[in-house]
Amino acid sequence: MDCVFCMIRDGKIPTRKVYEDDKMLAFYDIEPAAPVHIVMIPKEHIASANELNADNAGIVAHIFSKVPEIAKSVGLDGGYRVVNNCGADGGQTVFHIHFHLLGGKTLGKMA
Ligand code: 5GP
Ligand code: ZN
Repeated sequence: MDCVFCMIRDGKIPTRKVYEDDKMLAFYDIEPAAPVHIVMIPKEHIASANELNADNAGIVAHIFSKVPEIAKSVGLDGGYRVVNNCGADGGQTVFHIHFHLLGGKTLGKMA
């Protein structure tokens, strides 16, 4: 499948990983939008938040349950922002659901 994040999951594209378990992976974004910018993905390919349902949404809780640990491991002691872009109007460019973990400075208002 022609999915960048599936290729990262499969080790076909190298990344700086910060966390991995059997269900998810977190790595540094290649084009950081903040001093610290991590991308958190499920290992299962789900195209976007718009494809979540009662059967597959447990992965979202799993990813969020790891946010404090991941944030601490990359030094985000003063707080952070978690963002999901969904679909064309949401600014999504990679269609494998992911959550951005942003911080390292005082972030401005959201768009
Ligand atoms: P989106 O715009 O879909 O919410 O976020 C996709 C993110 O993936 C972007 O911030 C982009 O910089 C990041 N990204 C795209 N391709 C790669 C890659 O090959 N490696 C890494 N580490 N990040 C990527
Ligand atoms: Zn994928």
